[in-house]
Amino acid sequence: MRTIAVIGAGQMGTGIAQTIAQHGMPVMLSDVDLARAEAGKTAIEKALVKLVGRGKIEADAAETLLTKVTPIGDYEPMSEAGLIIEAATEQEAIKQAIFERAGKVLASDAIMASNTSSIPITRMANYSPDPARFIGLHFFNPVPVMGLIEVIPGLATSKDTTDQITAFAEGLGKEVVLSQDEPGFVVNRILLPMINEAVFVLGQSTAGIEDIDKGCRLGLNHPMGPLQLADFVGLDTCLDIIKVLYKTTRDTKYRPAPLLVKYVEAGWLGRKTGRGFYDYAGEAPVPTR
Ligand code: NAD
Repeated sequence: MRTIAVIGAGQMGTGIAQTIAQHGMPVMLSDVDLARAEAGKTAIEKALVKLVGRGKIEADAAETLLTKVTPIGDYEPMSEAGLIIEAATEQEAIKQAIFERAGKVLASDAIMASNTSSIPITRMANYSPDPARFIGLHFFNPVPVMGLIEVIPGLATSKDTTDQITAFAEGLGKEVVLSQDEPGFVVNRILLPMINEAVFVLGQSTAGIEDIDKGCRLGLNHPMGPLQLADFVGLDTCLDIIKVLYKTTRDTKYRPAPLLVKYVEAGWLGRKTGRGFYDYAGEAPVPTR
């Protein structure tokens, strides 16, 4: 496949760009401006330095990989891309503006994909020039480590687009789960109600943060507890997803936990801001309640 463009250089966009480059493909990285895109490349560099330090990757290979990532400040260079992957903030208005802008430069045979966690693909396809070449491509965090990608065709997505994107995902060394375009797809439909319920349990003082996580680690054999996982995902992203589930299904089981709203209002968004259900300032995470 020819060069790929990733829009949104946060946790997911940088992980996606790193993984693409690790598989030998050139990738453009874009965000709200060039400075944010460059900061994304710096984040990739830091991740690679850690991997080199742990002996997981050779220093030469890390250097070659970095040369494949090109931060860009405008959309024109994306006309060269065979695939544009949107990985910006989980808000439909933001994504709509991106698809409309990227659609103006999208090559006539290129595919546009969204890494959305929850927003309907069929609806967002209408913000792109050709819904047949629009698809959901849902990575998991941290992208270089996690072995799964969900592929979500919308109603109008062509079989050719689905086949090409499935092959692309498998080419990144990931397993693919094909999901219909239903709210939350497969994994988040199951995960987000669990995270939201864990926050209700915390809000009702049934147990503290560490005990809730410990209960799920040891009682359910999960590798990490739901509150720790929420910090990894980003509490703003968790809230955005549960709100989409609530709005699209109108099912009250998806009403956001008031304490989750409070944490987001406080700007305690998890690991990316240094504090969420845990505080990450010291050596070991400390619960914030
Ligand atoms: P993040 O907050 O780390 O990054 C979002 C990035 O989008 C930021 O760098 C922000 O500057 C950028 N952005 C905002 N508006 C933009 C615009 N108009 N144009 C270009 N860039 C813009 O969030 P994230 O965790 O990387 O999530 C990004 C997307 O990936 C969301 O749709 C989220 O639902 C999805 N996702 C997240 C996870 C997760 O575990 N965090 C997992 C799978 C999918």
